[in-house]
Amino acid sequence: MTALVRWFAVWILLLLPAAAAASNLEFSLHKLESEQAHPTLLVFGGIQGDEPGGFNAASLLVTHYEIQKGSVWVVPNLNFVSIVRKSRGVHGDLNRKFSDIEESDPEYATIQKIKSLILSKPVEAVLNLHDGSGFYRHTYQDALHSPHRWGQSIIIDQERLEKANGPAVELEQIAASIANEVNQALLSEEHAYRVKNTRTRDGNIEMSKTLTYFAVCNKKAAFGLEASKSFPTHVRTYYHLLAMESFMRRMGIRFHRRFPLGISGVKEAIDKNVQLAFYDHKIFLDVWNARNRLRYLPLKKNAPLEFTPSNPLIALVASDQAIGIFHGNRRVTNLYPQYFDYDSSIEGISIHIDGHPRQVDFGEVVRVDRSFRITPRMGYRVNVIGFRKEGPGGEAGIEIHHEDIEKRFSIDTDGSLFRVEVYRQDRFSGMVLVHFDKEAASLGRTASGKSFPFASHPQASPTGPTRLRSLEPRGESSVFGR
Ligand SMILES: [Zn+2]
Repeated sequence: MTALVRWFAVWILLLLPAAAAASNLEFSLHKLESEQAHPTLLVFGGIQGDEPGGFNAASLLVTHYEIQKGSVWVVPNLNFVSIVRKSRGVHGDLNRKFSDIEESDPEYATIQKIKSLILSKPVEAVLNLHDGSGFYRHTYQDALHSPHRWGQSIIIDQERLEKANGPAVELEQIAASIANEVNQALLSEEHAYRVKNTRTRDGNIEMSKTLTYFAVCNKKAAFGLEASKSFPTHVRTYYHLLAMESFMRRMGIRFHRRFPLGISGVKEAIDKNVQLAFYDHKIFLDVWNARNRLRYLPLKKNAPLEFTPSNPLIALVASDQAIGIFHGNRRVTNLYPQYFDYDSSIEGISIHIDGHPRQVDFGEVVRVDRSFRITPRMGYRVNVIGFRKEGPGGEAGIEIHHEDIEKRFSIDTDGSLFRVEVYRQDRFSGMVLVHFDKEAASLGRTASGKSFPFASHPQASPTGPTRLRSLEPRGESSVFGR
């Protein structure tokens, strides 16, 4: 262990304003804490909205890691509006506003919140995640591999950080050892990490405006992590995770990761975790592989749109007709809602799945091998979206096979995931998803929409359902979400 970790006997819980989770695309703070809270590492992703390697890595920390010793505080979506708009910064570069900012700047309040987070007592070290161009090299090799590039580097502002009481933190040595550890797991020699010292104090005006320099000036160890923009997102994310895990180990933070750290494991963890529950799981949508348009989704009339996302990069953005579901930079699908009053008289339905009876709660996904049949219930009407032989009494009591449903009505592009909606007169009672999946059914797996990969893990669960209060654009922005 090194001077990077200094222990504070007392620490103060930083309270983010409650509004953080509920208002328009505010960033969210996720405190992954263990019984033994010290030390605390603070990680920022998405300070610039067009650097998906960094914000996906930070998001995976929230959804796929369990911290067993120490704490990791994560802001995975710092510049959320810019992330959704795939812009470096819709209000200019957020990472150039830390030395000087006008009170009239639309990001003034954001900057103050970030600063107070960095300054909060428990925080021992700060990582700011970026995707940088090309490959940083100490000497010029070619245009893409040169001292002017940023990719594949650990950034420090100065060699060491003097502390008022205690030994100095050797930033350069620490960064070098992290780079060395990352370099044990390179996909190619070209990807090797190096340490880039921006020597900010010696007159580097640009870097003096950044988050890490603000931290260093306030005696907090801080590092920028840069993965190369030459790679696809999941490869950038892979390198960010390698570097972050190395930092955690060095600080004595113990963790468990719920996927294999290889490029296919990272890709799957990013891509397949795009799910939302609406209104306390009356509706659950798995949209990682969704069609461009999901029509006639029964949303609640005259009520705030409440949803719980499976990861902190998911946002809903309302426009004239549709509600876009975004996952980071990517628009995953568009919802075309139909508004209903809701019925809360039942919690689920009875279904025979491949001949076996089961009680299924709304918000669940049931795997079906051959067929399913919903048990009729007096007073309720069942609508299997896309069922070919619709009758006046609805679709309850009918044995339904995969080929009985028109594929174009599926949620997913594979034509295997379908909506089963239940109504009581003209009120919507709830939805179940049916997944025709032979492989999974034969293994006896049943997925439930009620347990998100990280919601079962209380320390990492989101701050509760997010409310979208109005579908009308408010003020200058039509962007809503977490
Ligand atoms: Zn950046």
